[in-house]
Amino acid sequence: MTFEEIKALDEQYVMQSYTRFPVAADHGKGATVWDVDGREYIDFTSGIGVNSLGYAHPLWLQAVTEQAGKLAHICNLFYAEPYAKLAQKLCTRAGMVNVFFANSGAESNEGMIKLARKWSFDKYGKGRGTVITLRNSFHGRTITTLAATGQDKFHDYFFPFTEGFRYADANDLDSVAAVAGHDVCAVMMELVQGEGGVLPLDQPFVQEVAALCAKRDWLLLVDEVQTGVGRTGTLFAFQQYGIQPDVVSFAKGIAGGLPFGGVMAGEKCARVFTSGTHGTTFGGNPVAAAAACQVLDVIDGPFLDRVQEKGRYLREQIEGMNLPCLGKTRGLGLMIGVEVTGERSNRELAARLIESGLLILTAGPGLRLLPPLVITQEEMDKGLAILRETLR
Ligand SMILES: *Cc1c(COP(=O)(O)O)cnc(C)c1O
Repeated sequence: MTFEEIKALDEQYVMQSYTRFPVAADHGKGATVWDVDGREYIDFTSGIGVNSLGYAHPLWLQAVTEQAGKLAHICNLFYAEPYAKLAQKLCTRAGMVNVFFANSGAESNEGMIKLARKWSFDKYGKGRGTVITLRNSFHGRTITTLAATGQDKFHDYFFPFTEGFRYADANDLDSVAAVAGHDVCAVMMELVQGEGGVLPLDQPFVQEVAALCAKRDWLLLVDEVQTGVGRTGTLFAFQQYGIQPDVVSFAKGIAGGLPFGGVMAGEKCARVFTSGTHGTTFGGNPVAAAAACQVLDVIDGPFLDRVQEKGRYLREQIEGMNLPCLGKTRGLGLMIGVEVTGERSNRELAARLIESGLLILTAGPGLRLLPPLVITQEEMDKGLAILRETLR
């Protein structure tokens, strides 16, 4: 099909909830994508942080096809090897005790919130179900995770929202303390606010919140849906913050392109979900779990060091261009935000770049780079050249 044919079907038959860029992707290899007309694009997006091993990684492809040929699905009333192996790999490397598998970021966060509320109910009874989240956060699109999201623009249309969320300012411990109360059971946060604009939290603030949680017997819930699975240069971002959360959610990059996610618990709340208290049909899907095992095997220590180096390189190069429309960069590893300073909006700049052959994202008022973790030097340089030529 041509681009115009695909677009026509989309407009006629798909609910128009996305503002799409005029590209119909066809296939990819590494960090390079080709559209249906054969045009090449360098990918600084990984979908949105999903294709951690890029496109058609040979080991990933082999793991997925082998598992699909053996057992694509079995319900959670039976055991299967892929999810069991994955659970061990994840918990061991994250220093967590056990995991519940889900299928998306929002669903993983729902599980995390349910776990926190039940933990508190089991210990303290009713009336202690409030979760403190941060302003400018993003936690998903279900009714509850929208309520958890600390941005007013997400609190429209879908009333009534789930109650039991209170918002505090990031990097301001007084603001967190100001919304404390006897009804609170947890604090939930992203360590680098992704959708909000790639805003890394300050390490002292994060450690102070962790100490406050320990003092008040609140759970510390970390949403690593975007920051997890090597994106920031460690397997999970919390490993750079000198904290050990009680609960961690993950999704986007975990299965390298398949829908997957989950929530990991530490010792304190490893036995909250008992038989029948939480579940999902697709969670722990064998194909996605086999893919995730392969992703984790590729993302070893030296690989993560390279992620850090690549992130530094991209940021230095972009700042060194001194483009009038771009300001400072920020982020961790290959999760990079770039300030937009000129007349043109981030959306306009992104549209120009995509037209010129560089897939890129926006976040908050800036640009956002989430390249596949396997991006090569050559691909980075090609992408940077497009950026320089297009925006100068
Ligand atoms: C993307 C994202 C989500 C939502 O994930 P979905 O898979 O779209 O449901 C939640 N939290 C964070 C931090 C995210 O970046």
